[in-house]
Amino acid sequence: MGIEFKRRDKVAKFLNPFKDFELSEAKCQIRKDPLTGRTGRLAHFVGFKPPSADFTRIIEDSEQNCPFCPENVLKITPKFDPGQIPEGRLKKGESILFPNLLPYDANSALAVLCKKHYRALTDFTPGIFVDALENCLDYLDRVIEDKGGTYGLVTWNYMPAAGSSQVHPHFQVYATQEPGNFLQAMLSSGRKYMQENGRTYWEDYIKAETDAGQRLITQGKSSVWLTDFVPLSALADIVGIFPEKQTLFDLSNADLREAAQILNTAIAYLGQQGVYSLNMGWMPARETERHHWLQLRISPRLYLAPHVWCTETPSLVYQYQESFMIWAPEDTAKELGEFVKKAESGH
Ligand SMILES: [Zn+2]
Repeated sequence: MGIEFKRRDKVAKFLNPFKDFELSEAKCQIRKDPLTGRTGRLAHFVGFKPPSADFTRIIEDSEQNCPFCPENVLKITPKFDPGQIPEGRLKKGESILFPNLLPYDANSALAVLCKKHYRALTDFTPGIFVDALENCLDYLDRVIEDKGGTYGLVTWNYMPAAGSSQVHPHFQVYATQEPGNFLQAMLSSGRKYMQENGRTYWEDYIKAETDAGQRLITQGKSSVWLTDFVPLSALADIVGIFPEKQTLFDLSNADLREAAQILNTAIAYLGQQGVYSLNMGWMPARETERHHWLQLRISPRLYLAPHVWCTETPSLVYQYQESFMIWAPEDTAKELGEFVKKAESGH
């Protein structure tokens, strides 16, 4: 079975009030994910930039009483049961990791990324991500007893539009037997693909994307980065795939550094495009699930109309679980690819 990037164009017609009620057309496109069959719709507004939103007041006010700022973090965040983690909290560089008061599972923690209360997307460094990820890995390594039966997940809700109640940058990290519906669908479809084709879907997918040449962003030594054909975000999903790796534990120190470097460049690009919020999620398999390759997904979030707090999750997206895209993944891949090249050459 070949991998197909299926798309169907649709045209809506109406009498346009901005053209003296002339009969006008607007195009949209329906796309299908080649692995799971998940569909999404592209209404391509060329040159769309997220409407700017002013967070100055929210940032300043939240800093007055922030539980994650250096003067508070050791006083008012929870500590681990000494029987489980005797140090109470885990530290690595500026990152501090402690139990989540609103746990996602039995082993569920938060990792504050840095001392600084607020960082714009253009203001992070690869080192911040390396330290925080190593801290999360240390935690997962200690709490996961059965790596063949448990998923170790690390996520980031950056700023309120992505579901974060805290401005101060922090990851969520937890161990679970239930990886969530999105990842579960990928894992199940990937298993089926391997049973039917005798090969890993992700190997064929990277080859198909490389041949298509439309959504590839950059290729590192241990990772391939592209934009998803059917993103979850209204803007673009940037996905890093780590061939032959299943879990975060499979990443060497050099792999982790490469991932942090490209992640840092990708979010700086998004910041320059006016993005002020995003979700990031590691999508691992369990140790034994060779049909899946570890990936990192970055999904920008926004208010479509910040002056009325209009989110980008209408009924179509939230209830029908259908992506609605405004940026074409192909455009983002091209621009981000050039941005990465410039960043690598130091310009
Ligand atoms: Zn803070």
